[in-house]
Amino acid sequence: MEREKRTGRRDGRDGERMIKDSLFPISLFGIFLGVLFLMSGIHVGLVVLMNRLNWSELVQTLVPMAYWSVVAGGLTLFTRKKIRNTYEEPLHRLARATEQVAGGDFSVYVPTVHTSARLDYLDVMILDFNKMVEELGSVETLKTDFVSNVSHEMKTPIAVIKNYAELLQTGKGTREEQMEYARGIEEAAVRLSDLISNILRLNKLENQRIDPEIEQYDLCAQLEDCILQYEEMWDEKELDLEVDMEERAPVQADRSLMELVWNNLLSNAVKFTEPGGSVKVRQRTTEEYVEVSVTDTGCGMSSESVRHIFDKFYQGDTSHSGEGNGLGLALVKRVLVLMNGDIHVESRQGEGSTFTVRLPLPGDKEDRPEVTEL
Ligand code: ADP
Repeated sequence: MEREKRTGRRDGRDGERMIKDSLFPISLFGIFLGVLFLMSGIHVGLVVLMNRLNWSELVQTLVPMAYWSVVAGGLTLFTRKKIRNTYEEPLHRLARATEQVAGGDFSVYVPTVHTSARLDYLDVMILDFNKMVEELGSVETLKTDFVSNVSHEMKTPIAVIKNYAELLQTGKGTREEQMEYARGIEEAAVRLSDLISNILRLNKLENQRIDPEIEQYDLCAQLEDCILQYEEMWDEKELDLEVDMEERAPVQADRSLMELVWNNLLSNAVKFTEPGGSVKVRQRTTEEYVEVSVTDTGCGMSSESVRHIFDKFYQGDTSHSGEGNGLGLALVKRVLVLMNGDIHVESRQGEGSTFTVRLPLPGDKEDRPEVTEL
């Protein structure tokens, strides 16, 4: 009469777990029945033997008492060992592991008492504990990585400001040189300020502290405005720009957050494309979504880079690392998750890249495409 019960919880890797939940454990019943049969058999045998040997009544009373005391002692030791193995030792291990975690060691792993096919509630608790420690460990690593990335990104502009300020203080150099130092300080300050506002924005987006202001607006007009902002840069780099858009494309999204998306994609296309190259912006509306793609003939990316470009602070192409901080695409991804849209990338190293963004058509929530986990 052993039943297997689902925990009702989902384990990321194993799906639903089956717990052994027994009202009447047949195997234990079998062991007890066998032992009691054997012991009472021995008892009867002893009584018969003592009768045959004509032992005194006192001995015939004392021997079975001593015999059952030994049996009770054996059963007590057996039950004690079972309790120790099944509950006490695992709970001790769990207590020791908890102490280690409290002390900041997230490498602990507590083994389960039973195999995965015979889990009980204690095993499930241990599995959940291990998972919790794993999660805590990864959050801790992310936190440490984040702090070291931010410190690294801040170090360069701060060093630049310090050096130029020292040079200015000496009072040496021509007027032009001094102007150049001042410009250097300004640029480094702008870099620092961009970095900090990107971190704050990303933090707000990740903690859902930004309430998107969803409104219906014309995406084509927005794209045109964004593209125009880059006119000077296109000209400077002599890039060939091709735009293929509809007259109008209504979308329902947060206008200012979407501006951030287009600005990031367009500035990356300009940044990573060599002078004389070309950038193409294409927009179309299908039955399900509005799609915008930005294609460039720039340096492209390796498949390894493509896997990481949405990670915070990731910079694949280091030759332009001074012009960014690796947070742009992380922000883009976050915004699109909030907008119920998605983004995907196709890229070939040395040939160029295409970033394609899809936004749901305006309408009821049910009509929109599923949120794609990015
Ligand atoms: P960054 O501020 O460094 O540009 P992003 O998050 O915008 O940070 O981009 C992350 C990385 O993705 C870049 O460092 C670069 O390696 C890669 N990347 C992004 N856009 C392009 C592109 N159009 N062409 C080639 N590589 C790109």
